[in-house]
Amino acid sequence: MKISAIELREIHLPLRAPFRTNHGTIGDRRLLIVELQSEDKITGWGECSALAWPGYLPETIDGSLLALQKWLIPKMLEIEFQHPAEVAAILDNHVRGWEFAKAALQSAAWDLAAKAAAKSLAEFIGGQRKNVDVGLVLGLQDSPQKLLEKARAGIAAGYRRIKIKIKPGHDLEYLQALRQEFGDDFDLAADANSAYWLDHFEHLQKLDAFNLNFLEQPFGWQDHISHAKLQKLITTPVCLDESLRSLDDCRTMFALNSGRVINLKPGRVGGIKATLDIHNFCRKNKLPLWCGGMLESGIGRAVNIALASLPGFSLPGDLTPPDRYLQSDIIATPWHMDAQGQIAVPHDRPGIGVQIDRDSLEKVTLTTWRFR
Ligand code: MG
Repeated sequence: MKISAIELREIHLPLRAPFRTNHGTIGDRRLLIVELQSEDKITGWGECSALAWPGYLPETIDGSLLALQKWLIPKMLEIEFQHPAEVAAILDNHVRGWEFAKAALQSAAWDLAAKAAAKSLAEFIGGQRKNVDVGLVLGLQDSPQKLLEKARAGIAAGYRRIKIKIKPGHDLEYLQALRQEFGDDFDLAADANSAYWLDHFEHLQKLDAFNLNFLEQPFGWQDHISHAKLQKLITTPVCLDESLRSLDDCRTMFALNSGRVINLKPGRVGGIKATLDIHNFCRKNKLPLWCGGMLESGIGRAVNIALASLPGFSLPGDLTPPDRYLQSDIIATPWHMDAQGQIAVPHDRPGIGVQIDRDSLEKVTLTTWRFR
């Protein structure tokens, strides 16, 4: 398979409401969209979901843009591949890092190859589930009452799990309010985005009282040691997100017991190939995993939904349909979550299974770059 042309776009999608976490507030979503065209005129789509500022991880949209233009797209236009799994190693050769940028090109290559094989991406990668479970993520709220309002709406809509963002002084009272109102029977989790420090061990032990599915990334993104120390002190499983940028990081987590659950985002680990490797590692070692979200457009979310259909993705994913958080999307048929909190995997549609709405895409495009 050979790529004959690549179009790269920067798009700008306003959110319905700002999303607040420990690493900052997102008001509008800047994303990069890549469109690959093969020599036999098949089109593949991919999305770069890095954030606009380096609060989550060092890679940003501007950095990804540079990496794509300068190193990755020229390489992609040179190569020939039999299977899209080969693309990861080629892009990694002489270019370290830039996982989100690599994931965008890789996803597009997988979409293209699945379409060439007349298969859905889910089927192409071995996904079996017909439906995937969806969890809701609620950003930091101004008061427990505000959080309860949002949680009530989420539970009424059918979401399978509620995960809230927490930080010091913004945790016990909020979790307490949720358990008090909804009881112990619903799935609840907390994500700290590295908000805690080494003097918080005792405080974090109090979170065991809330019977959380997991406590996500309380400490720094490079700090396996503190996570391992905490995991020894608490019964709540620690889940890592920012700390896991490769299969090697997941192996480190497993060896050190710095976490017992994995939040997997294909952009964060460099794309579909690494996601499949990590998925297989988790199955072999009986580690629960689930698919995280980066406030993607309908294109990025399509990849996540296909991945979540794999058998090892055993917990609900942050897979909220994008039209619930974006004012407008760039796909013709929006993703739909049913009243049971599930999204149907489009096994009957080729590739990522979405039709691009070209008019909407044009409207939200800031700049387009064409290669070849
Ligand atoms: Mg997280």
